[in-house]
This record gives sequence, structure tokens and C-alpha cells, in this order.
Amino acid sequence: MPIPKSDKIWFNGAFVNWDDAKIHVMSHVVNYGSSVFEGIRCYNTQRGSAVFCLPQHVDRLMNSAKIYRMDVPYSREQINQAILDTIRENRMKECYIRPVIFRGYGEIGVNPLGCPVDVVVAVWEWGKYLGKEALEQGVDVCVSSWTRIAPNTLPALAKAGANYMNSQLVKMEALKNGYSEGIALDNQGYVSEGSGENIFLIKGGIVHTPPLGSSILPGITRGVVLQICRDLGIQVAEHAIAREFLYLADEVFFTGTAAEVTPIRTIDKISIGCGCRGKVTAQIQQKFFEVVNTGAEDRHGWLSFIHSIRETK
Ligand code: PMP
Repeated sequence: MPIPKSDKIWFNGAFVNWDDAKIHVMSHVVNYGSSVFEGIRCYNTQRGSAVFCLPQHVDRLMNSAKIYRMDVPYSREQINQAILDTIRENRMKECYIRPVIFRGYGEIGVNPLGCPVDVVVAVWEWGKYLGKEALEQGVDVCVSSWTRIAPNTLPALAKAGANYMNSQLVKMEALKNGYSEGIALDNQGYVSEGSGENIFLIKGGIVHTPPLGSSILPGITRGVVLQICRDLGIQVAEHAIAREFLYLADEVFFTGTAAEVTPIRTIDKISIGCGCRGKVTAQIQQKFFEVVNTGAEDRHGWLSFIHSIRETK
């Protein structure tokens, strides 16, 4: 499906028409994959439109840029503001938000330091990533034959465009083989994550998830789910997870901005637990959707409202 166009894209501090937001083919990013980015959601809650975990996403974006020695010409506050302004400018109630920081047009060659650092923010309307039924029925996935990017090669803590060459291999293989997603193992053979999701397992009432050391992206939704577990009094263990533990789990689910909290019903055609959404997964989903659907019960300040509550009345 092509991206549903919105009106304006924020491009280095000014709004340009969607169709005019172009870069030169010899930009550094086109040749060497030198970008960092975010995927963020704005939900149309019952109390108005609100961006989910905006400061956390902007923080990760700036951290990604720092890892790659990018001198970003905007502060965290300015990027934060640019995101809110872009949503307002496009009169979006509910959308996906994509800020990208990239090495632009300048010198050619691997050394990126002679190229400008450009910043864009695009927004567009977007539905459920893995499908609406997926949230209730769960998805069928496989363990990928591709290994996740290894430590000290491409840094996993940075959300860099180049990392997604690895994710694309995982995703394409899964789709071509009839699965909706693939789970990559890390270079030690332990469970890492999906091509665009973190993973959680439940066994005997305890929630397990791989630690940051397993080459995972530090997912914002992962952090939210860990907090929900703490709020619900569910015990959480972050540790290296053997592949076969996936098959033996009572429940497994993915988390991500796009995937939200998506149950997994089979892995490599092996039924997980009941082969349907499990009880703990449903409980965590309920808490998650309570916040983003109602805009209430936001105990941890996860929502940044686009308009003040008074303005929306
Ligand atoms: N891992 C990868 C590789 C991802 O691309 C994503 C999506 N950004 C996630 C995990 C989930 O992260 P988040 O909850 O911040 O969207």
C-alpha cells in the first residue's frame, strides 16, 4: 500500500508540500544508509489527539544521532515542537509520525562529516500494522534463518536506517514462507526480537523478555509494557532466552509502536499455549488500550495532547 499523503512535511525547520520534500540522489544517506529515525503514534483518544511517549521517542532519536556523531542542528525541545506542529499543520487526529535525521548532500565517500545533517518530520494516517484480527487472534511467525545485527557491528541501541537492511531480510523471508513476521536470534543464538518488534514470553505467570544485551532495540512500547507489568504486580525477568523456550512458553507476544501488543499463536508451526491470545497478554493489552483509547488513566504521563483539553471542547 502506498503511503497515504498528508499536506505538509517539516523539512529543516520549514513546511514544504508532501510532493516537494525531495533530496538529491547523491546525498550521503542514499549511498551509505546514514540515517536515524523514529516511528511514533498519535492516538485519537476520547480526550483528544495525543502523541504516545513523545519525549521518550525524541530522546531515543537524539541518542541514535549521538552514537553516529551527528551534530543535529535542533534541540530535543525543537524536535518535540516540530512533531506537534506537523500534526497540527496537517490537521491529523490519528497518525503515524516519522522523524528522520540523515546525512544530506555534500561530499561523496564513506566519511560523512563533510555532509549536512538534515531533519524531516512526516505524518500520515495509519491503521493497525499486523491487522486488526491480529490483536485478538494472534499471528503466525517463524524463527528467522538470519541472525540479528551483532554487538560492535551495527549498534542495536541506535534506531538507524541501516539496521533495517537486517530487518528486511528477516521480514521478507518470513513473508515469502507464509508467516507474518520473523524472530531473529542474536549472534549467540539467544532470542533477540522481531524485524520491527520486541518480544515477550510468559511462563508460569512470570513475564520474560530479552535484555538490551541481546542486540534488541530499546523499544518504547517494551518500556511501557514493563511498567504495566509492575503496575499489575506481575513478576518480570530480563535475561538471555533460549530459542526452545519460545516453543514451551504459555504465551508469547510482540510489542512495538506499530504492532502495539500483538499475541503470537504459533512459532515455526508449533502452537504456543492455547494457540490463541493468553490471559496475561489480554490483561496487558487491556491496560495499554485503556490509556491510548480513553486518554484517561495516564498515570505515567505517556500522552502528549496535541491541543490543550480546553481547546478541544
Ligand atoms: N525492534 C525493532 C527492530 C523495531 O524496529 C521496533 C519498532 N521501532 C521495535 C523493536 C519496537 O520499538 P518501539 O516500541 O519503540 O516502537
